[in-house]
Amino acid sequence: MKQIRFLDVGWTYQALAPKMDAAVKRVLESGWFILGDEVEAFEKEFALYTGAKHCIGCGNGLEALELVLRAAGVGPGDEVLVPSNTFIATWLAVTRTGASIVPVEPVESTYTMDPQKLEAALTPATKAIIPVHLYGQPADMDPIMEFAARHNLFVLTDAAQAHGAVYKGRMSGTLGHAAAFSFYPGKNLGAFGDGGAVTTMDDEIADKVRKIANYGSTEKYVHDSLGFNSRLDEIQAACLRVKLDKLDNWNWTRKTIAAIYLEGLKDTPLVLPVVPEHIQSVWHLFVVRCKDRDALIRHLAENKIEAAIHYPIPPHKQGAYKDMAGLSLPISEAIHREVVSLPMGPHMNEEDARRVVDVIKAFFK
Ligand SMILES: *Cc1c(COP(=O)(O)O)cnc(C)c1O
Repeated sequence: MKQIRFLDVGWTYQALAPKMDAAVKRVLESGWFILGDEVEAFEKEFALYTGAKHCIGCGNGLEALELVLRAAGVGPGDEVLVPSNTFIATWLAVTRTGASIVPVEPVESTYTMDPQKLEAALTPATKAIIPVHLYGQPADMDPIMEFAARHNLFVLTDAAQAHGAVYKGRMSGTLGHAAAFSFYPGKNLGAFGDGGAVTTMDDEIADKVRKIANYGSTEKYVHDSLGFNSRLDEIQAACLRVKLDKLDNWNWTRKTIAAIYLEGLKDTPLVLPVVPEHIQSVWHLFVVRCKDRDALIRHLAENKIEAAIHYPIPPHKQGAYKDMAGLSLPISEAIHREVVSLPMGPHMNEEDARRVVDVIKAFFK
């Protein structure tokens, strides 16, 4: 019996090996490794892909988030509305600026930020909102943007899991005032190392992000503001250009696998993901809820199928946020107790997906 891997980053190299080798060789032979032609070309291509006016490459997804918050002037004394259920990077970016986190619970069926809960979280100190397009599905952006406009708040979308996702005909990366992407190897568009990018329509935010990410400098050895070093490197940019060509294709494979899971598992006791009609998820993860998830994961493993948990512990229960441990966030806590991620990615085929379905059905028999 063949092992069905949860994720297979090595496969993404094998699928593109000749082109990838040529891209890396091109950079190595150029003798230019930081802020050169490859990054510039990738930024243009990714801006075109998302429809955003600007794309700025940076070191990783966490720094993409932090760069935008700093460019938007978020800092000590400000409050930022952040989902209670997300990867911890969304929270860390806020904390790193010195601003305070105000967690907002999700809609239970879609796992994304609940626009109805924003009003209650608002205070005079509220400065920004970070909706996360969790598991590949954009948050419900229209009501969030309306709320933000009414209260003069900055909206940064965390698009680290949503390269190519669509909300009401608009692409992820253009849905807020700015967006942060990660190119961590396991993401839908992943590098072979760390990488990230900011997209935005706003000229001023774009200029500021570019400057902060490059030592607060626009002219070599002239530093008129405090910055840090967060840059996408030439080798990663060259690899990302090769993979960007494949992104839609690989997202389609994910959609096909998701369709097989949704149809095949609909009569099981699992709680399946819900995607509203106006949204196209890119299925970064296919997350189900199961009362007895440990037994399900064991059963899958016995049948050579890898599963994972995203995420086992909510941010407010992490040691890093000890001061928030007393908060009661019951929706997030329930989600974290029950979620299981099934294998998902372009390394799988339809037969693999059907085997996952059959093995899960056998578990409930
Ligand atoms: C991966 C991820 C990040 C952070 O990206 P890195 O490149 O690993 O720093 C941020 N937010 C979410 C939702 C993520 O999934």
